Amino acid sequence: MALIVQKYGGTSVGSVERIQAVAQRVVNTVKAGNSVVVVVSAMGKTTDGLVKLANEISTNPSRREMDMLLSTGEQVSIALMSMALQQIGQPAISLTGAQVGIITEAEHTRARILHIPKERLESHLKDGKVVVVAGFQGISSLEDLEITTLGRGGSDTSAVALAAALQADCCEIYTDVPGILTADPRIVPDACLMSEITSDEMLELASLGAKVLHPRAVEIARNYGITLVVRSSWTDDPGTRVISPSPIPRPLDGLELVRPVDAVEFDTDQAKVALLRVPDRPGVAAKMFGEIGRQKLNVDLIIQSIHEGNSNDIAFTVNKHSLNQAEAVTAAIAPTLRQRSNSGSNSGNGADPLTNEAEVMVERNIAKISIAGAGMIGRPGVAAQMFSALAAENINILMISTSEVKVSCVIHQKDCDRAIHTLCETFAVNSSPVDESINIELSELKKSAPPVRGVALDLKQARIAIRFVPDRPGMAAKIFTLLAEKGVSVDTIIQSQRCRIIDGIPTRDMAFTVAQADADEARDVLAPLVQGWQFGEITVDKAIAKVSIVGAGMVNQPGVAAKMFDALAKQQINIQMITTSEIKISCVVYEDQAVTALQAVHAAFELSGTKKIAVPA
Ligand code: ADP
Ligand code: ASP
Ligand code: MG
Repeated sequence: MALIVQKYGGTSVGSVERIQAVAQRVVNTVKAGNSVVVVVSAMGKTTDGLVKLANEISTNPSRREMDMLLSTGEQVSIALMSMALQQIGQPAISLTGAQVGIITEAEHTRARILHIPKERLESHLKDGKVVVVAGFQGISSLEDLEITTLGRGGSDTSAVALAAALQADCCEIYTDVPGILTADPRIVPDACLMSEITSDEMLELASLGAKVLHPRAVEIARNYGITLVVRSSWTDDPGTRVISPSPIPRPLDGLELVRPVDAVEFDTDQAKVALLRVPDRPGVAAKMFGEIGRQKLNVDLIIQSIHEGNSNDIAFTVNKHSLNQAEAVTAAIAPTLRQRSNSGSNSGNGADPLTNEAEVMVERNIAKISIAGAGMIGRPGVAAQMFSALAAENINILMISTSEVKVSCVIHQKDCDRAIHTLCETFAVNSSPVDESINIELSELKKSAPPVRGVALDLKQARIAIRFVPDRPGMAAKIFTLLAEKGVSVDTIIQSQRCRIIDGIPTRDMAFTVAQADADEARDVLAPLVQGWQFGEITVDKAIAKVSIVGAGMVNQPGVAAKMFDALAKQQINIQMITTSEIKISCVVYEDQAVTALQAVHAAFELSGTKKIAVPA
């Protein structure tokens, strides 16, 4: 007899009829010989409605009271679901997070799960009951009994955490779409269903805006090797399986707080090419990487800085043995990337007059050092800790690239050994990566992975730019530690390649994206620091969006970036920022062009299916 955790989202339990249909589905699973734990969300848009009520009373409601309020939505649906099951003859019992004893951090509105005792659940299951558990909620401790919630969309995380705690055979996420699609079908109606995806790819997609799964749910599934399936609530189709590596045994205590970093990785085979002062207009990145792709040069990291007057800097890394070729290609392109005739004026600050021609800069003696681990998701302190550890060793960071599960820094090669040593010590890990080869299914899936598995759009980001950051070790550490202390997660961190001397002090610009909801707080937290630099300047732009492509197959596949940039250029879409990790490329674009951008990129990689996906209201 198998133990299955089934989670039903808001739309799936949005009316009495739908609750009854779900109850029937649960009973069918029981009749097939399984024990079932059901996790439900609040009905329909209940949680949104509660948030709206709170905002009508207060512009800044207490986070504790928000949890008290929002947790009620799920309490309604567990009771109704349990009644619906009982009504059709299936013994069932509903339990709140507190009644199960789901212990979380004492962090209102964004708590992580620490522990789930299984005794109570198991004793009800043993009695032949279906246990219906409220998703999205827990309590801070058995003494305080403070109600906490996990963050919006967190019921997925409750379900997978319950599956881990109970060592269930499978966790099924039932929702309003047929499974995980190549794009959000509400934006790209001809998105295509995938039958499988690796947990690494799904982690990226989920954190880049694909809300079909809560990223932390994928993290737990990956860490504990839970079989995770996303399916439609309305059909019996198999949906999508999320394939995880064979897990390293981990304790169930501190469930979501397990080691944030699994490995420190380094690569001394890379070299950096930067092209400074390229014009800020659509098509430039496409032209540049198009040529590099045609030469079959494999690009690893790509970073495009924020606007600088009317020009950008683009930097990328390639394998050392292709550096000469990459330099030659870039140098050949540089003269063709001229500013338009009216744009050769000063950049505005008087410190760095723009010339007419882009300039190529090459750095051979670099190393890329990364920390990797699914436990760093949503934990802003981890990147800050890395930057601080490097700063303490007086190591200057040349480039930063982030993904949800990895932070990579390009540093001088001479600093590499010290960097490895200090990071292994800081995060208590070895510098050997996790061995994922033991899972045959995963290695097969990776081998056959297309360069792009799916695309995602995040409209809830804001860009923060800081100009004239003193170029010395410790600056990134300072900035990101301040943000981490306020719980602000940062993504897409970019340092400009150009160093500008102001009153004898070398400075660089830095830009990053944060959730829109955190943008004002981030600016307020950083303002005193930036003012202390005399020249510092901080700007916030909320009218941006991030378009991303994700695929394990893009590793070692030249030309993928070029294809994305080209698709955007054809729509006359200007790229404001570019950042990449091994399996994703993200571009920041203007918000009003975001939907066109996503559709164009989806079409360019030929991800479209033959039929339109209908999403019920
Ligand atoms: P639930 O209430 O069941 O948790 P959500 O609204 O949280 O449902 O998530 C399902 C929604 O996620 C879909 O209706 C779809 O619009 C959106 N979505 C975004 N990206 C994707 C994707 N790549 N595949 C499937 N759905 C996606
Ligand atoms: N009801 C919560 C929300 O709307 C949790 C969830 O549905 O996953 O965010
Ligand atoms: Mg959801």
